[in-house]
Amino acid sequence: MNNLLTLIKTVYEINQLEELAVPQIILAGRSNVGKSSLINSLAGQKKLAKVSATPGKTRSLNYYEVIPHGYYIVDLPGYGYARCSKTERAKWGKLIDKYLQGNNYIAAAAVLLDSRLSPQKNDLEMISYFTRCNVPILPIMTKADKTKQKDRVKVQNQWQDILKVKPICTSSKSGMNRTKLWKLLDLTAMPELADQIEPTGLEESPEE
Ligand code: GDP
Repeated sequence: MNNLLTLIKTVYEINQLEELAVPQIILAGRSNVGKSSLINSLAGQKKLAKVSATPGKTRSLNYYEVIPHGYYIVDLPGYGYARCSKTERAKWGKLIDKYLQGNNYIAAAAVLLDSRLSPQKNDLEMISYFTRCNVPILPIMTKADKTKQKDRVKVQNQWQDILKVKPICTSSKSGMNRTKLWKLLDLTAMPELADQIEPTGLEESPEE
């Protein structure tokens, strides 16, 4: 059965944050990494999340409920966008700090990484920020269709050396590893689902 995603809440300001006693997986990544496209691909919809023509514009936290399991995927605003002002960046930091503070329901941060690039400074900064907050990292490589397998594996190995976890390669364009990613997200958010979810092999699955 396919999971469904629905946007249930959008938060722009700190005072809109409230404690939600539901497992949450953060979705984070540099602007333009393909985060909105991945949300749309997971949802099987074209326009659930806006695919940005102007990167870095979305500054809100978007809460998506995963149906039928009931956990949330929380989409954080893209980081490291050069044209974003210092004030805006500071506001971004405060909102995310506040969201993380005392939130015991965060299962992991799914950090999106561009398959075409070796580890970048702002990705590493974001990862150490989550690690300092004791949030486990679930690395996801995006835009795999834009790379040759050989080059992708090289980047995957670089990340594995750093994180001690092998990133999953995905493509929103071809649908590569879509089902496998859903299973990973389900099990990360709700380990108790292990009995209900078929085990997947470690090999990459191509288009679906
Ligand atoms: P966001 O800023 O992280 O939300 O990134 P978007 O989802 O808006 O994507 C940024 C750009 O990359 C857009 O032009 C997308 O069409 C493109 N893109 C995103 N994912 C993929 C992918 O898997 N394959 C390819 N070829 N292009 C992608």
